[in-house]
Amino acid sequence: MSAFIDLLFPPLCVCCRSQRRQQLGLCPDCLARVELTGLSACIRCGRHCPPGKCAPLGHGYSRVLSLAAYQGPWRQVVQNVKFGRDRAVARELARELAALAKASGFPLPRAVVPVPGAGKNWRNFDIIAMMCKELAVTAGAPIQKVLLRRPGRPPQVELNYKGRLEGLEDYIYTAEGTMLEGTVWLVDDVYTTGATADACARALLVTGAGRVYLFVLAA
Ligand SMILES: [Zn+2]
Ligand SMILES: [Zn+2]
Repeated sequence: MSAFIDLLFPPLCVCCRSQRRQQLGLCPDCLARVELTGLSACIRCGRHCPPGKCAPLGHGYSRVLSLAAYQGPWRQVVQNVKFGRDRAVARELARELAALAKASGFPLPRAVVPVPGAGKNWRNFDIIAMMCKELAVTAGAPIQKVLLRRPGRPPQVELNYKGRLEGLEDYIYTAEGTMLEGTVWLVDDVYTTGATADACARALLVTGAGRVYLFVLAA
């Protein structure tokens, strides 16, 4: 049925609305403008970062792996799937990331953990959950939703200067009794300043995780 509908209404390129949509929601022209990063990018920020523009040193995660730079057509694609407008593209992205994870040679995780969302999911669609599912199948590891967040500061702990600088106002913590070990794959949609990823990774390390690898769609 969906093939029939596609024939009548071919899905449009998410960026330029052309009818030549090819893969990952984009037409060949827009796809060519995407700056793919993957394994060729910086391990600290997941980008082809110019000197001096990287993530702060001393973060809790071991490495960031991102599909592409968060700009141009790719920004459109990621926003499109974040807001649940196109689930077919969302699934394609999740599979692409899982394939990259498989190709990365990173140590397989004992758990796949989603970064907790800041707000409600758009129309009950959760791109991070979809990504976790694909990564968990690839890794043969369970999804463990052990990270939680709430607005405000942790009790009796002042947010350090770096946290304030990066605008991390949420308090990230693990569910009571959480015990992890070995490698953990942490999953988020977009990596921006790294403050959230760092807070999540640190919370996971405290519960016994050995190393935390972060997977995102864009950085
Ligand atoms: Zn296009
Ligand atoms: Zn970097």
